[in-house]
Amino acid sequence: MTELHHLSLAELGRGLAERRFSSVELTRHFLERIERLDPRLNAFITVTADQALAAAQAADRALAEGSAGPLTGLPLVHKDIFCTDGVLTTCASRMLSNFVSPYDATVVARLAAAGMVMLGKTNMDEFAMGSSNETSWYGPVRNPWDLGKVPGGSSGGSAAAVAARLAPAATGTDTGGSIRQPAALTALTGLKPTYGRVSRYGLIAFASSLDQAGPLTRSAYDAALLLGAMAGFDPRDSTSVDAPVPDYLATLEAPLAGLKIGLPKELFEDLEEANARLVRDALGVYEKLGAQLIEVSLPHLPLSVPTYYVVAPAECSSNLSRFDGVRFGYRCEDPVDLLDLYERSRGEGFGAEVKRRIMTGTYVLSAGYYDAYYLKAQRVRRLIANDFAQAFTQVDVLMGPTVPGPAFELGAKLDDPVTMYLSDIYTIGVNLAGLPAISIPCGFLDGLPIGLQIIGPHFAEERLLNVAHGYQRETDWHTRTPPEFA
Ligand code: GLN
Repeated sequence: MTELHHLSLAELGRGLAERRFSSVELTRHFLERIERLDPRLNAFITVTADQALAAAQAADRALAEGSAGPLTGLPLVHKDIFCTDGVLTTCASRMLSNFVSPYDATVVARLAAAGMVMLGKTNMDEFAMGSSNETSWYGPVRNPWDLGKVPGGSSGGSAAAVAARLAPAATGTDTGGSIRQPAALTALTGLKPTYGRVSRYGLIAFASSLDQAGPLTRSAYDAALLLGAMAGFDPRDSTSVDAPVPDYLATLEAPLAGLKIGLPKELFEDLEEANARLVRDALGVYEKLGAQLIEVSLPHLPLSVPTYYVVAPAECSSNLSRFDGVRFGYRCEDPVDLLDLYERSRGEGFGAEVKRRIMTGTYVLSAGYYDAYYLKAQRVRRLIANDFAQAFTQVDVLMGPTVPGPAFELGAKLDDPVTMYLSDIYTIGVNLAGLPAISIPCGFLDGLPIGLQIIGPHFAEERLLNVAHGYQRETDWHTRTPPEFA
């Protein structure tokens, strides 16, 4: 039998249903791999072994009684940005290094109710601010394809864990690319749903108008399986949309003949030739399946990075004001008075990148600068959204690269925030427009994966999964395993 960690979520589900192995056996297998291999990666902040085995036993009982669903007994890991009842929830910050959440995020609760088994909480950039998973208070995560390289960020621990086969699937969050970018750099499938499709309740807020949770998996099929259980209206999130969740598996196999693919010229302008060639090869696969390629333009897209770096810090400065050393989280030693308590708790609790964002955000929101920066950024945001809307009057989906290049060396961009910010140049526009997008592996450059990004209109997740699955039926990039973790 193929070793369990080589099986996809869907195959593991079949194995459980056919009693080829139990959920307890499966859970033990992954826990053993985490214990043995994670020291090389640092993908986990917390491993919840006892809780996982208890959940696996409950799943095995449900399987025996015939009350199991398609996800019952399947292990997964959660980014440590999701609140988990009774379990440490740190957001990879010293500020929350002692925070045990008193409740579950809706995403966590839904996946648990579907019978899934949480193996642990994964490392990430501090408060999801970063593109390399190096801003974590718990240290950087390493890329399983090359331990000297970054896995991407901010959901780098989730991506590294799934890519190294320490878990069959993971959750992540994407504010400006944090699901798609690490998916691209580790050869995974990463889906950022439409803003409002998945509840943000219990997801520690970074930039509330941009944050969205989604799956990091080994295939579009697995992403469809997981998204179906994550998505849906939640009365506790006023921005979640009250629309039915389709059966994402039902439309996966729909033929792609006649599909109109828009190629935004702005996404290809500065793309390095080797990367562009792999994207073009992927487009060739779609042409063979009967799709039509159409050049389109998103004229305001080049403004998305500066726009994002006004809007996101503004929202972060407001959201992170709740961490004051009083109610929960880190508190400095021996404060002399209240102001000292605030200042030192925040000064010692937050890392450099988080402070940089809070200061930028406070500045752009301050009287006198609000109109020049924040209001202007909101207007440009609308123009970017309008460009996408215009493109979708001509085409069904847009395609382009997910990342400007493959994974870079640890430390390479850490001292240069602007260069780091540019790693998300292809992903950020999607968040500003609230659109869904998926990244799928489309080839390797010098042994390191890169991704193809597929962007759809609002609530077109079904289409994106169908289009991604069509490619994965024709290619095997998504099945490759990092040699050290085979
Ligand atoms: N890299 C971007 C940032 O640093 C996006 C992060 C994210 O999507 N959470 O803000």
